[in-house]
Amino acid sequence: MHMGSKVIIAVDFQKCTKPFACKKCIDICPGQVFLVTPNPMMFRKYQPVDENQPGSYLLLAPMILKCVGCMECVKVCPNDALKVMIEQPKPETQAPQRLG
Ligand code: SF4
Ligand code: SF4
Repeated sequence: MHMGSKVIIAVDFQKCTKPFACKKCIDICPGQVFLVTPNPMMFRKYQPVDENQPGSYLLLAPMILKCVGCMECVKVCPNDALKVMIEQPKPETQAPQRLG
């Protein structure tokens, strides 16, 4: 990844409803960017969490700084649930160049 570029990863939870059962993006990501976690809104103490119940788990991207921008996760997702946006640094934020 280019120095100074900023990555944004958006997960559409309406489309990625069973990430624990799927995990395709997790398996393919070379940067280990993703994590699946039980949805705290669905969590009931001492109750097992059913991976096939929609919304029972959430896909997060906590290690976003490890993203290499390969877009493999976007390509592999069967539900078109992921967007990876890479913003290149603006010219004015780069170090000034000496002229002459
Ligand atoms: S673009 Fe590549 S490195 Fe970044 S999250 Fe997706 S699979 Fe991982
Ligand atoms: S591949 Fe798509 S549907 Fe599967 S866990 Fe990742 S974002 Fe969710």
